[in-house]
Amino acid sequence: MRLPGAKTAKTFSRVLRARILGGALILGYHRVSTVENDVYQVCVSPENFSGQMQALRAYAYPISLSKLVQSLKQNILAPKSVAVTFDDGYADNLYVAKPILEKFDIPATVFICSGYMGREFWWDELDRIVLSSQADTRALRLPVGRTQFKWDPPRGSSEMDNPEAHRQFREALYHFLLSLDVEDQNHAMGLIRTWSGVSSPGIPASRAMSEEELLQLVDDGLIELGAHTSHHPMLPQLSFARQKEEIQSSKRDLETLLGKKIAGFSYPNGQVTVAAKPLLREMGFTYACTSLQDVVRPGSDLYELTRFWQQDVDGERFVKGLNRWLSMKVH
Ligand SMILES: [Zn+2]
Repeated sequence: MRLPGAKTAKTFSRVLRARILGGALILGYHRVSTVENDVYQVCVSPENFSGQMQALRAYAYPISLSKLVQSLKQNILAPKSVAVTFDDGYADNLYVAKPILEKFDIPATVFICSGYMGREFWWDELDRIVLSSQADTRALRLPVGRTQFKWDPPRGSSEMDNPEAHRQFREALYHFLLSLDVEDQNHAMGLIRTWSGVSSPGIPASRAMSEEELLQLVDDGLIELGAHTSHHPMLPQLSFARQKEEIQSSKRDLETLLGKKIAGFSYPNGQVTVAAKPLLREMGFTYACTSLQDVVRPGSDLYELTRFWQQDVDGERFVKGLNRWLSMKVH
């Protein structure tokens, strides 16, 4: 996941500079799926993703992120180099995105939260619960640790069947959960489950890949994995020790699963911390991705690689974006 709206003010002047100096793109995706209500705006439909990959193959030079990083280090960046990345490791990356990537022979890197393998992410569970709960939301109080969630319906809307009040309620809960470390977050989710009266769906519709599915994802070598912490916390809110624990455990779990070194990291919600950068270097990561939008070029900070998050648009609109970012001549 990432926080919406994160963008550098300098993006466009930097794009202009890249036109002169040469630059490459890292594209960011989360899900290739069609869902009824994409509240976090993380889905690209299979049709649009296919159109985007077809255009990428036709108009650019798709390479893996590890090769792109190598090229940046050696200052030998091929023109129109573009790397594809996915954050979070949703199951649709295997069942929907992978066949499309194979069809157009486009490598990709998928950043995994090892504590969520095979499970539903808390933000998806929250949505599912809030959407289907019939529980009374008036004056809800959830005491968690030293803090508590307090909800009083907005003035003039005592009924939660008011869609705007319902949206505000979900957002308030989301931001409350986002502010918590993992233990308190689990505790809060337990309270929300009890309050809601909504039962578990068994296998949830939206979930992260299991260990077996991750092995299938990487079996032909087109897709590589990177780490994305164990539980997707907001790193800036954690102590140094907790940041270290979250980063190190995800690297260790993935290395144990694959039997090979994990070189890449993606900051949850794109949030870089001063502490995390030297930690990543010490742990043997060679690069890390943020959610800031910019082109990358020789000299870019390899521990703050910038990406362009992709929208659910067709191949034609996608090419316009590529053209703008890379100053390519598209006929
Ligand atoms: Zn994420």
